Amino acid sequence: MYCPACKHAMIVVEYHRIELDYCPNCQGVWFDSGELDLWLKSTGRDDERHFLADMLNSPEVETSEARRKCPICRQTMKKVAVSKDPATHIDACPRGNGLWFDGGEVDVLLQELDRKTGTRHSIATFLSEVFQARQQTA
Ligand SMILES: [Zn+2]
Ligand SMILES: [Zn+2]
Repeated sequence: MYCPACKHAMIVVEYHRIELDYCPNCQGVWFDSGELDLWLKSTGRDDERHFLADMLNSPEVETSEARRKCPICRQTMKKVAVSKDPATHIDACPRGNGLWFDGGEVDVLLQELDRKTGTRHSIATFLSEVFQARQQTA
């Protein structure tokens, strides 16, 4: 699979039995929604699946950022806002295949999740662990 941002070949990283695709060139990460879903089921955190669904189903935002194509279905991904100030957008597959985070964007997402919920959800903890592991790999 190739990086939707820089076209570099991505490497598969397994973490907590979830396979993630990581770009060693630009540090972006592709989260397959099916893999995240399985992980939430396996941890019994079914209640948190709405986080994922919310992100995938968020309305498209107006932005001049470059459009990317989903590495799975090749459809142009939509820009979804994870925070307004500063404005941060992630790329979501219009068919719900998954989410793309540029290197650095995940930190903003985690702060946003913490602020919205007041407590750190396991999905946020998971994402931060993945990104810490990623930084050690880089
Ligand atoms: Zn890349
Ligand atoms: Zn797709």
